[in-house]
Amino acid sequence: MKKHKKSIFEKLILIIKKNIEIYPDIREPNNNSKYTMEEIILSAFALFFFQSSSWLEFQTKMEKKKALSNARSLFGIENIPTSNHISAIIDELDPNLLSSIFDDICTMLVEENIIKSFEFLGVKTLLIAIDGTHYHSSKNINCEHCLTKTHSGVITYSHSALVASIVSPEYNQVIPLMPEFIQNEDGNKKQDCELNASKRWLKRFNKLFEEYEIVILGDDLFSHEPFITATLEQNHHFILVAKDTSHPIMYKYIEDNEPTELIITTFEKNQKYTYKYRYLNDVPLKKDSELSGMNWCEISIYKGNKRIYFNCFVTDIKITNDNVAEITKAGRSRWKIENGNNNILKTKGYHLEHNFGHGKMYLSQFLFTFNLLSYLVHTTLLVCDTNYKLLYEMSSSREVFFQEIKAITTFLYFPSWEIMLDFMIKASNGEESDYNPLEAS
Ligand SMILES: [Zn+2]
Repeated sequence: MKKHKKSIFEKLILIIKKNIEIYPDIREPNNNSKYTMEEIILSAFALFFFQSSSWLEFQTKMEKKKALSNARSLFGIENIPTSNHISAIIDELDPNLLSSIFDDICTMLVEENIIKSFEFLGVKTLLIAIDGTHYHSSKNINCEHCLTKTHSGVITYSHSALVASIVSPEYNQVIPLMPEFIQNEDGNKKQDCELNASKRWLKRFNKLFEEYEIVILGDDLFSHEPFITATLEQNHHFILVAKDTSHPIMYKYIEDNEPTELIITTFEKNQKYTYKYRYLNDVPLKKDSELSGMNWCEISIYKGNKRIYFNCFVTDIKITNDNVAEITKAGRSRWKIENGNNNILKTKGYHLEHNFGHGKMYLSQFLFTFNLLSYLVHTTLLVCDTNYKLLYEMSSSREVFFQEIKAITTFLYFPSWEIMLDFMIKASNGEESDYNPLEAS
């Protein structure tokens, strides 16, 4: 018998399932819940994957009517739990359990050579942008892991995380990695911060892409000695925004030592663009800095005579006329993390939290991580599933695309992901599919 070749979607779901298997079952031994841990966690994932709080309810209705559902065919969920049930269980699960899923998907991206399209300059180098993001703030709603701030006797509870993603100047999609939560550890009265979280993240991350050179991209907050030292200790490179306001000694040195200038003019659609670069190697980061080999560069882009972009960076990579354009291009791709992850989290997935609640322990962090995970799964599909990419490109926007896959799987049954995509593509082209969902029973 011919062996069924697993699709990328099936492989991704399998990775999630395999990792869930080793999660502790935190329920009481006498709890005779009819749901398995796998069903509970995959159900939560399905909601984020389809970006819909009502998706499971419709699947439950479909099960009752037809004894089949997309929850079962796509994710292997036989019994669909309610949101309340899901919330109660995952509130007690440490979100760091999910890091092995991120790691396994990244390993798959390397093994299947998918990561290649993200390689910087076509060599074994990956650009990883990091950024802090704030995703909960309330005077009332709080949990054990909330950060707290007291102002005029009023406490504000919040959640933040350091998110990291593989970015590429040539590619709009980003590959999110497991975030590092900014949270107070037990017994530690001092509030945690973005910088501490970034150092913890660096330590945790260092084994993931062993064959690759890593270049960390970050904003001005990171271009100081503690983070740079921590980055170099892990043998990574960096290109970090370094503003004059936060590096006065360095900028004084730069102005006293005549940086090299390079001007490149291009014409794009009959419009003149001027790229003006300035750079200087071996600059002092601050007074009596112990770090040597710090290099500085600056880019200004002019459209005609008008300056449309400006930024400046420090890096450990020696800057020359040949690489200054590429270094600044890499540094500039940092913004994609804001565009790619954070906005999507805030505008798309965040509303789902209202459906689950904030939780007492981990729920809020777990859901935040799930949102990133579903983004990782979607990006992976977009990069390697030809039909998914085709459908995505047929839609007028990402929102429309999500609405379409959500709507079609809400009301119609599909025995597999491939059959669903094939049906949607054919329907969009006015063609008939071999599979008729109206006949499914
Ligand atoms: Zn909280």
